[in-house]
Amino acid sequence: MLSQLKILHGYRFDSHILGKKVSIIGSGFAGLAAAACCAKNGHDVTVYEKNHSIGGRARKFEVEGFTFDMGPSWYWMPDVFENFYQLFGHTASDFYQLDRLDPGYRVYFGKDDFVDIPAQLDDIYDLVESMEKGAALQLKKFLKEAAYKYDVGMNEFVFKPGLSVMEFADPRLISSALKLNMFSSISSYIRKHFKNPKLIQILEFPVLFLGAKPSETPAMYSLMNYADWSLGTWYPQGGMFKIIEAMEKICLEQGVKIETNAKVSSVNASGNQTTGISINGTTIQSDIVVAGADYHHVEQHLLEEKYRMYDEKYWDTRQLSPSCMIFYVGVKKKIAGLLHHTLFFDTDFDKHLGEIYDTKEWPSNPLFYVCTPSKTDDSVAPEGYENLFILIPVAVDLDDPEEVRKKYFNLVLERIEHITGESVKDDVIYHRSYAHRDYIQDYNGYKGNAFGLANTLSQTAILKPRMKNKHLKNLFFAGQLTTPGPGVPPSLISGQVVAAQIEKEFGQKR
Ligand SMILES: Cc1cc2nc3c(=O)[nH]c(=O)nc-3n(C[C@H](O)[C@H](O)[C@H](O)COP(=O)(O)OP(=O)(O)OC[C@H]3O[C@@H](n4cnc5c(N)ncnc54)[C@H](O)[C@@H]3O)c2cc1C
Repeated sequence: MLSQLKILHGYRFDSHILGKKVSIIGSGFAGLAAAACCAKNGHDVTVYEKNHSIGGRARKFEVEGFTFDMGPSWYWMPDVFENFYQLFGHTASDFYQLDRLDPGYRVYFGKDDFVDIPAQLDDIYDLVESMEKGAALQLKKFLKEAAYKYDVGMNEFVFKPGLSVMEFADPRLISSALKLNMFSSISSYIRKHFKNPKLIQILEFPVLFLGAKPSETPAMYSLMNYADWSLGTWYPQGGMFKIIEAMEKICLEQGVKIETNAKVSSVNASGNQTTGISINGTTIQSDIVVAGADYHHVEQHLLEEKYRMYDEKYWDTRQLSPSCMIFYVGVKKKIAGLLHHTLFFDTDFDKHLGEIYDTKEWPSNPLFYVCTPSKTDDSVAPEGYENLFILIPVAVDLDDPEEVRKKYFNLVLERIEHITGESVKDDVIYHRSYAHRDYIQDYNGYKGNAFGLANTLSQTAILKPRMKNKHLKNLFFAGQLTTPGPGVPPSLISGQVVAAQIEKEFGQKR
């Protein structure tokens, strides 16, 4: 019995009675979700975060009266957040006021040429019918199929750890495989239903979240159109960081300890087990380690070679989701032509996608996205001012020197001025750029990726980097480079799936 007792942080800890000592690397959505769930299951959990604040790619910063969310800005799939909160007896309104945006967003195709996407489905049907005769009926059919995919995809597929093909040997899943359109592309699927080029482009937009060209993304992901148009675009008052604050509160309620400025320098192992992690020369013994930091970083830089499942060649041949060039901008005036979410699709969509995924170069004439949360939320900018988050999706692994950043900053401001017909440049009072080297420095992001691994057919489920190390029975991975994939809802789910797998394998013996 004595051999089961360990001395941890100065107190005696019996892993068979109190649960396991779980160390989690990284405080993004995946790490925090895994932490909260493991702690709820009775484990002794600590999250170690290298940065001085938590949240990972969803951190925020405050400057000159502006509050900028650094990463995610689209609150989609509110059911995923709600389901998470309910695991802990909470609801979203315990943490923030959630408002549905109406219109959800605006898409510019040129000067004085834009489409606003309304919140109500009936209004969306009217809109598409005005763009293409017969499109309303087609859209009803399209969204009905998408609803089915969302149900199966989000309630069944995404909760599979992807460790064995047998997880999918379920008659319901097999029979649904055809209906899910796994083997055709979303590009051809959308074109089967619609002809209007603008409508097609709007319907292809959510696929950008998945990190691959529409022609390489399975049509199953029309579930994203269901998320977009049927479930809606929401905003948590105070900003997206409110979700991180909510998760932090839940973690603390569950007894999780969170340590910031704690950069993990190695994951230690002996035999077929990890023994813990090291931080600044201090070894932290752990029964279980969950890597919520970028998978490549942990595997290739923190783990001894003999324990790795993949090599650099494997990683180099993975298709990563894009990186991005971001500008956080404070403007000392209101800009009427911008909504909370505004997409600038006034250039060649396919050319830009080719520059991201095929030629992997800086885009010649990029499409871009502007989030203006100050349209909805007075707390994120001084009165009468505008808070802009401008994002250009770009290829990973590019050099991003100051002159390139400047060039794109001028380009996007000029385009906003041209398209909206309003002056902006002269009223900019703050701006900061953020791109590849920041993703590497701040998050150890492989090749400066922003959004993780692309959701292509050859990188789905069991074909993704494995959620559990094969050589070490107590090392797990969570987050946007493993199952189920990139994005806030999938990362949140990833942490829950890892915690469930830990419970299955190391559940408490009381
Ligand atoms: C600009 C941008 C916009 C986005 N927009 C959206 C959106 O609108 N909607 C949406 O759903 N998704 C969006 N996403 C995607 C979404 O934000 C991510 O998929 C998600 O936040 C990833 O969470 P994660 O927990 O996997 O990783 P991360 O958030 O990267 O967390 C990993 C953590 O590990 C830490 N870490 C790394 N190395 C170490 C180490 N050695 N020791 C200790 N800690 C370490 C990092 O500092 C980081 O905090 C966006 C992403 C970006 C970058």
